[in-house]
Formats: sequence, C-alpha cells, structure tokens
Amino acid sequence: MRTPLDPKTPELDSSGVLGRTPKVTQRDEQGRPVRGAQPRLPVVAIAGNPNTGKTCVFNHLTGTVQSVANYPGVTVQHKEGRARANGRTLRVVDLPGTYSLTAYSLDELVARDFVIEQRPDVVVAVVDASNLERNLYMVAQLLEMRPGLVIALNMIDVADRRGFRISTEKLTTLLGAPVVETIASKGRGMRELLEACVKVIDGEPGPHRAQVHYGHEVEEEVQKLTEVIAAESAVACKYVPRWLAVKLIEKDTEVRRKLRALTADWGRIEAATDAAIHAIESHFGDSAETIIAERRYGFAAAIVRECVARSDLGRQHISDKIDQVVCNRVLGPVILAGVVYALFVAVFKVADEWGWLFGRSPTGWMDWSFVRLSGVIAGLQASAPQLHSLLNDGVIGGVGAVISFVPLIAVMFMFVAILEDTGYIARVAFIMDRAFRAFGLQGRSILAMIVAGGLGGGGCAVPAVMATRTLREEKDRLVTMLVAPMMNCGAKLPVYLMLIAAFFDRWQAQMMFTLWAISWALALCAGWVLRRFVIRGRQTPFVMELPAYHVPTLRGVLLHTWERTWMYLKKAGTIILAINLLLWAVMSYPRVDPVRFADEKQARRAQLESSIAGRAGRALTPITRLAGFDWRENVALIGGFAAKEVVVGAMGTAHSIAQVEADQAQPNAQPQAESLSARLASDPSWTALRAFALMIFVMVYAPCFVTLVVIRRESGSWRWALFSTAYSTSFAFVLAVLVFQVGTAFGWGT
Ligand code: GDP
Ligand code: MG
Repeated sequence: MRTPLDPKTPELDSSGVLGRTPKVTQRDEQGRPVRGAQPRLPVVAIAGNPNTGKTCVFNHLTGTVQSVANYPGVTVQHKEGRARANGRTLRVVDLPGTYSLTAYSLDELVARDFVIEQRPDVVVAVVDASNLERNLYMVAQLLEMRPGLVIALNMIDVADRRGFRISTEKLTTLLGAPVVETIASKGRGMRELLEACVKVIDGEPGPHRAQVHYGHEVEEEVQKLTEVIAAESAVACKYVPRWLAVKLIEKDTEVRRKLRALTADWGRIEAATDAAIHAIESHFGDSAETIIAERRYGFAAAIVRECVARSDLGRQHISDKIDQVVCNRVLGPVILAGVVYALFVAVFKVADEWGWLFGRSPTGWMDWSFVRLSGVIAGLQASAPQLHSLLNDGVIGGVGAVISFVPLIAVMFMFVAILEDTGYIARVAFIMDRAFRAFGLQGRSILAMIVAGGLGGGGCAVPAVMATRTLREEKDRLVTMLVAPMMNCGAKLPVYLMLIAAFFDRWQAQMMFTLWAISWALALCAGWVLRRFVIRGRQTPFVMELPAYHVPTLRGVLLHTWERTWMYLKKAGTIILAINLLLWAVMSYPRVDPVRFADEKQARRAQLESSIAGRAGRALTPITRLAGFDWRENVALIGGFAAKEVVVGAMGTAHSIAQVEADQAQPNAQPQAESLSARLASDPSWTALRAFALMIFVMVYAPCFVTLVVIRRESGSWRWALFSTAYSTSFAFVLAVLVFQVGTAFGWGT
C-alpha cells in the first residue's frame, strides 16, 4: 500500500502556483491592481491551533503586546501589526486559533476566509511541537489551500522536556514547507522565522509541496470533480480547484454557498459533487466527510511516525501525571474549590502583610490619601460650597471609593494571571464541563465564563461574550452570552470588597469564596432554565485539549496584572468619573432654599431628599424595601446599569453628602475621616444581611452597558440584549428579596 507520504505518488503536486506569489494578490482577474496605486505590503498571516503560541510569535515579530494566555478562545478577531525584515516592512496578522479549517465555528471561518480571500503572501503555521500530530491536522488542510507556507515548530522546549526528538529536516521535506524551530515565549527563532517568510515572499523556490493523499477511490472522485470545477474560469483563478473539490465532498456549506454565487453552471458542479459523494459513501459505507477526516489524520500520524522519536517511549510526562490527579472526576472539583479558596486567602493575606510592613493596608493607605485630599479642599467649603461638594462628594467620595480598592484588585489580578499562565484554566473547563453538561452548558461556555471572572474574580463580560464565537452552535452561544455576565467581573469587586470590609471583616476570604460559589451556582441554574424553556436545541460535543503546564514567567504575570489594573484605573478616571459627576448632580439639584429650615442638618436632608435622585430613589423604595435597599442604593443601582463600579461610587457620594449632617451634628468630629466602609459599618440601619442582599443583587442584575452593546452585536439583535437585562434584573430582585426576607425572618437582620 502506498503511504500518503510516498514521494513517488503523482499526487505530490509540484506546481504550487495559486495563491502563492504576491502578484496574484495585487491584481484582480483582469489584471488591474486591486488596491489602487498604493504599493501593497506583503502580508504574513499567523495561523494554528489554539494555545500554540501564535500571539507570542505575533508579539515578537511586531514588537507589540497582545494578550497572551494559556487557554483557547482569547484571540477571536484577528489582530494586525507591522514587522521589519531585511529593510522591508511586512503586515503581520494574528488569526484566531482553530483546530481545523472546516468552518464549523465563526473563528474557524474567520481564519479560513482570511487565507483564501485575502491571500496572504505567507501563512506561518504555528505548530506545538509537543503535540505534533493534532497540530498537523490543520497543517494538512492548509497545504491544500496552497498559500505560501512556513511552519514554526514552536514549544520545542516543551517537546524536549517530554523526550521528543523531532527531525526538522525530515519534516521540511515531508511537508514540503520550510520548518523553523522556535520558542516563542522566549523569542527564540524569530529572526529565522522572518527570514524564511521573506524567502517565500521573494518567490525563492522552496521544498516540494506535499499534500494529503486520500486513497485511490477518493482521489479518483476528487480528480473528476476538480476538473469540473477547473473548467469554471471565474472560480479557478480565485480558488484552488482541488481544495474546492475536497471541500465539496466534505459537504462544506460555506464553500457551496461561495461557489453557487460565483459559477455560471452551478448545476453541473452540484451534480458532479453528488455523484462523487455517492460513489465514496457507497464504496466505504461511511459518510464522505468522515473518510476525508480519517485520511487527514492518517497523513498527520504518518508524518509524526517518520519525524519524531521518543527518547523514552511510554514514559508519562509530568503534565499527564499532574492531570491524573487534577482532572480526576472526584478530586478535580475539590482541588478547584481549594485553589480558588487559596486564591482569596492569598489575596487578603498579601494585603495584611503589606499592612504589617507599611503600617496600613494598601486600601487603608488609599483611604488615608483621600481623607488628606478632602482636608486640602476643606477651605473651599465656606467660599464655594457648590464646588466643594462637587469635589468632595462627587469626585473624592465617589471615584475615591472605587479607586481605593485598586491595590487589592491588582493583587487579585496578579494571582489570576499566575493561574492563567500555568495552564490550569483549560483544566477548569475540563473539570466543569462534566458538571455543566447536565445543565445545558458545554466546555467552551465555561471558558467564556472564566474569561468573565469565573476564576475567583476580576474578569470582564465583554471579552467573554466575544469568546462565545468559539462555540459552534448558535444556541450555545446565546445561552453563554446570557449567563456569563453573572460571573464576578472586576467591576463588581469594589462593591464586594467595600461591603465585606464593612460587615464581614473577619471572614473576608470565606465571603469572597462564598460569592464565587454562588455565582457559579446561579449561572448553572440560569443556564439550565434558559436551555429548557427559552433556547432549546441540541448540544454540540466538546473536545478540550489540555495544554502542558507552564511555569509562569514573571514578565508575563506582571504584564497581565499591569494591563488589567491600568484598564481598571483608566475606566475609573474616565467613564466612571463622568457617570459619577452626573449622579452627584442629580443628587444635588434642584436646590432648595436653606432659609426655610430650622438648622443646617434639616436643610441638608431636605436638599438630598428633594433632589432628582432623591425623588427617583424614593419612588422605588416601596418595591426595593422588600430587598432591604433604601433610596441611596436605588440611585446607585440605577447608575450601575451603566457600569458596576458606579454602585460603589454613587453610594460613596450619597453617604458623603449625608455625612455632612453628622458633621454638623457633632462639630468636634473629624470631618470626612471615614471611608465608605467605615460609614456603613457605623450606620445602625445597615446590617450584614442587608449588605449580603445587595451583593447578590449586584452579582446578578443587568449586564453593564458595554456588555449589552456587545451582546447586541454578537447575537445580531437588541432583542437578546434587552432580554438579558430584563431576565437578570428580575432574577436578581427575586434573589435579593428572598435573601433579605428569609434572613429577617430568621432574625439575622439585626
Ligand atoms: P495562542 O493561543 O496560540 O495565541 O498562544 P499564546 O501566544 O497565547 O501562548 C499560549 C501559552 O504558551 C502562553 O502561556 C505562552 O507563554 C506559552 N508559550 C508560547 N510559546 C512557547 C514556547 O515556545 N515554549 C513554552 N514553554 N511556552 C510557550
Ligand atoms: Mg492568541
């Protein structure tokens, strides 16, 4: 039997012309330049399986910083940058990671369309050397599309450690494309990679291009169909006919759609396709797409057999050993809970140690500086009371309350970044997948939820909603978009931290852990209900690849932490500040005449209560009282529809304005000497139960505005964005009322 790699087989195509030379891309069918007079920069597209180091390669080639993370689904849209090599400028594009180019999911389609429609001059296929066989499956598909191709044999260090010896020369010959060994995380091999790309761009003849041989029976059909397709000149000059033929036999609906639109005689091609599929299926007694896929796997396996030697065959590498414990059916969830618990303990512990070292906790230092700041502007109180109130209550009381948690949040980001970089996230998805399957959410949904903050805290729902693009089934995507915002994102953290500091001071880590567990439990329930009653449909299977564990690099962790903390600060200083000032205004206007009141205190109260916010907040209290919220929380929560950080900010402002009452009542008291936490803790109307009900509400209610916009974009209609707001807000309210009422009935509210 001929192996697919036998160099004597006639199927080893040597032409490799189509889509290879830059000239093809520069001109359209009539030979006109496509992009006007501007000389077009050569394009290098980076493709490969998820988590093989594409973004690392991209960053090193272009010198930019894109998010690198050790779990799939991070790169959903392609990113662009420039690279320089031998005095030339290249356009580099980071494509989404996919296991295949069959166009089952949106990101596969994005990657594939880029290769066939944009016709990059070179595709750099980043391949995980420690997982060669699976990675070659996609390379096999790329080979058929015939772009200029360079293989980056990445993670060669990991392969080494696992005892794989890969012969690069053999691989180069067998694939018929230059292979460059790289360690992208350390920037090794990047120059060689660029040089190889430039050679391809310059049209230097490379090795003899290989391609999958599908066996006589299939090949015969592929050949016949290829000829039919090649007869259509409009198609043949745009795509590789053989690739189209294979795709049609694979029943690829996207390719069918494309061809139908492009061909003059679609009927002929369709008939030929049906005949080919029929011939293959009746011969093998199996579906044509299965046969094709099997042959591709065979191709990959054969190459691995030829090129890879294991120094110690059968020895389990370390990652596998760890996974036996970590991904164990019973131990896995226990360990996961332990890891998250340890994460929170560590976060608060670091904060404590800091206090021991520097005299105050980081949050304490922040509070202290804001108190100082309000001391500085105290002089304004007499001369310009309005301005003083704006600065003191609106800016310091509001944004200060958000920013004072930055040190703690940065520590949280850091620990999450460490976990991400080790490779544990993929395991979490794997462990949770089993639990979630019964609830109608599959593994990729879980990855999205982890991005949203499911690993402890401090994610964001926006990239999570975008990450749902990795889901194949539209219904899975929708459910995930609707439940992911329930995770504890970074914006909810200051609300939790503030209330926990006030009411659960001795149980900080435990409380955060409880909130984490509750967020998952609620998301599960919501997912189940949505799946059952709103978005019914079949579930798609999920294959989770477990990447090898990495020791996180200091640079990577610090970079991640800084990126996220900076984003957080930037948001607090811009959007949150703006919304907060708006809320300050509605809490301070319209003005009432203070002369009408007996004393300053009464005037203040009347002013607050008759302000726009006071009226709106009080109009809602008959309902929200059930959950224990007074008008100030109502205003804060309304503000929270825009962004969750606003909740703390607005409460800070409201209580800061109200504080003046107390100051007036006790003229000797230190003015503004308290943080919001301390104020609430000393307020007799506040209890731990009330705080808890508020935290649950904030956890579940409406996604923030930006998330809604992204949900609209990703789901294609406002309907789902509105539904998301409506169902989660009602759900949150019911939960908060339950907590508050049941708690009160048990006497916990005192
Ligand atoms: P992408 O999903 O393909 O874009 O992969 P990333 O660039 O995000 O990298 C995934 C993970 O692999 C990160 O934790 C990188 O630090 C790590 N990584 C990338 N290249 C190498 C390599 O050559 N060796 C090792 N040991 N780790 C790598
Ligand atoms: Mg990436």
